[in-house]
This record gives sequence, structure tokens and C-alpha cells, in this order.
Amino acid sequence: MGNGAWTTEQCPYVTRCGACHIGEKCYEDELAEKKEYVIQHIGKYCSQIHDVAGMYYPYHYRNKVHAVFGKIRDSVVAGTYAEGTHTLIPISSCLIEDAQASAIIKTVTQLIQSFKLWVYNEDTGRGLMRHILVRKGASTKQILVVLVTASSEFPHKNHFVAELRRLHPEITTIVQNINDRQTTMVLGDQERTLFGPGYIEDVLLGMRFRLSPSSFYQVNSAQTQVLYKKAIQAAGLTGKERVIDAYCGIGTIGLCMSAKAGHVTGIELNKQAVQDAKANARRNDINNIHFVNADATEYMIRMSQKGDRADVVVMDPPRSGSTEAFVKAAASLKPSRIVYVSCEPQTLGRDLAWFQREGYHAKEAFPVDMFAFTECIECVCILEQ
Ligand code: SAH
Repeated sequence: MGNGAWTTEQCPYVTRCGACHIGEKCYEDELAEKKEYVIQHIGKYCSQIHDVAGMYYPYHYRNKVHAVFGKIRDSVVAGTYAEGTHTLIPISSCLIEDAQASAIIKTVTQLIQSFKLWVYNEDTGRGLMRHILVRKGASTKQILVVLVTASSEFPHKNHFVAELRRLHPEITTIVQNINDRQTTMVLGDQERTLFGPGYIEDVLLGMRFRLSPSSFYQVNSAQTQVLYKKAIQAAGLTGKERVIDAYCGIGTIGLCMSAKAGHVTGIELNKQAVQDAKANARRNDINNIHFVNADATEYMIRMSQKGDRADVVVMDPPRSGSTEAFVKAAASLKPSRIVYVSCEPQTLGRDLAWFQREGYHAKEAFPVDMFAFTECIECVCILEQ
């Protein structure tokens, strides 16, 4: 993949930005190439690989938009670093990002300029305004704006917030996140809610989810529902099973499966995500699920040492995939089925080889396109003992 790009008429940033790897070619061709890519990496381990489930409308699908602030001559700009560099490219619109989010970022950039706020300088470590993150609940239309600053000081804060709300009444909450470290990580540990509840909600498969600034949430809400439906089907639940939802984030997959399971245990490392997950169980009145804030591998090892078992392990690790220790820990719970939700076929392939050694064979894979015009492709893979 990666041959072909948007024309500069479609996207003026195409030669510099690097976020889209694929451009103007026909979307069906992109899906076919993505299937080939999946076959290339997991074909050896998986008996059947289905066609990629594509998007209905492959534009402006990203519900989470991030930009970094900078200064070019005397003007405040917001944009992204050119791939692999520290060169800021100002971006005012994007074909794959939510358009409302782009408009809000533009306004905030103008407000920083008119309020004469200091823009953070990565090289000197001085200045205030660092990043902006906008998240939108695709079905609720709630919008979270996170302003990342280098210190807790925020001159004219109240006036700034009032002005932003006046210009964008669609914003439902604004959070200041303080990141005083010289790091490539966007968010720091400290947070202050400036307006609204500090989180937004979204609805997936009829369930309402709360998501906080640092919690992981799939960026393409429409395709997430396609993905989760496949994962639920793949789990083959009958109402009695003990299910593990490893790498559970705010609990979305486990909660969507809970009606068909006996009991679900969600395991997640990020504290804020676990708080969201617990709140989400209460919000949807689900009682056969509980969440633990732990490393998934360590927790499953402890379970197995106590003699606990699981019928189905669902896992949805980050792009870097899982680890051999995780695979062994999952296998030690003796599940009859493993549902692996992966966003990177390369690491999925590596992990399937580990599972094979533990006696689990990949039966079917369902690729789902969550990220049109990029090289990324998501997959639900069913493994059986
Ligand atoms: N299943 C969720 C989240 C998937 S993203 C969803 O569909 O929304 C992967 C998640 O794994 C992130 O929330 C991350 O914080 C978590 N994570 C990363 N390493 C982990 C580990 N070792 N143990 C448990 N969770 C981990």
C-alpha cells in the first residue's frame, strides 16, 4: 500500500502531513489491498479471512482530533508535525477528521492570538498553550475540548472559556490538562474541568458510554459498531459463559457482550478508563460485569493461580499487540474460545504464532476498515482450542 495520494486540490497538506497513506484511488481497491495486507501477515495462521467490511462514507470519520499549537512569524497556528519530524504544518481542514472539531480548533487558535496567550515552544520548554484535543460523541453530538497547557496558570481563563462557548455553543465540556514535561506525550496527569462535566457520552449498540480525556475510545464510531457486532458474534455466547475482556478501555466490548454472557471481567491499566468503565456499567444498569485496574497478564496469572477459569477471553491490545506472557496467561485460564480484536495485522500475526504454540488455532478473521485512506486495518479473529 502507500502508492497514490490525495491530489493537492483535494488536500493541500498531502505532500507534508503523512497521516493519510493512501489517497484518491477507488475505495473498493483500498479495501481489496487491505485484505491482501491481512492475508500477508496472518494468512499462515488463520484458515479463513473474510472481505473487509468497508465504510459507508469514508470521510470525516475521526471523532477525536488533536492539534499542536505553534507560532509561524507572529501568527498562532495549529496543526501537526510532519511525519517523523519536528516541523509543524498548520492545518485548517482535514478530509478524515470531524469537521466541527476542525472548526473549534481554528477558533481556539484565533482566541489564543487575540488573548495574546503564550504558545509553548518545544525547543525552549517555555510558553503556555501546547495542544488541543477535541472529542465528539458521534451519536450524542456532545463535544469535549481539552486545552493542554504547560502550567496551571491560565490568564483570562474565564473570559477565554466564555468566548469559546459563545462561538461554539455545541461544546458540552472544556477541560484544562496540565502537561509540564518535555515529552511527546500529549496529556499530562493533572486536570481541571473548566466547564461542564469533564467528560462526554456516546452511544454504541444502544448502550451509553462516558469517556474522559485520557480514556481510549475507538475513533470511528460507525465502524466500531460493525466491529463490536463481529466480536460479539465471534464470542458465540449462550448466556452462561465467564468472559474476560482484556485491555477493556472504558468497558465497551464487555458491556456490549454482557447481556449474552454469564459474567464479564474487564481488565484495564488506565485508571481513568476503569473509572469510566465502572460508571458505564452503572449507567446501563449492568450487574454481571466488574472491572479491575490491573495489568491484564498479571491479573490473569493471579486468576489461574487461584484455580479460576474463563470460557471466552476477548482481547483488544494496542497496536504493539500483546506479549508472549499474556498469551500464556490467557491460555492458562483454559478458555474454549479467544476473540482477538486487533488494529495491526503484523503484531496479530506474531501473537497468533504464540497462541498456536499454546494450542489455539485461528479459525476466521473479519477485517473491518476503521481508518479509510490510512494503512491501518482492524480485525476480529476467532481462535479455538
Ligand atoms: N477495548 C477497548 C480499548 C482498546 S485500546 C475499546 O474497544 O475501546 C487498548 C487498551 O489497552 C487501552 O485502554 C490501554 O490503556 C489498555 N492497556 C494497555 N496495556 C495494558 C495492559 N498491560 N493491561 C491492561 N490494559 C492495558
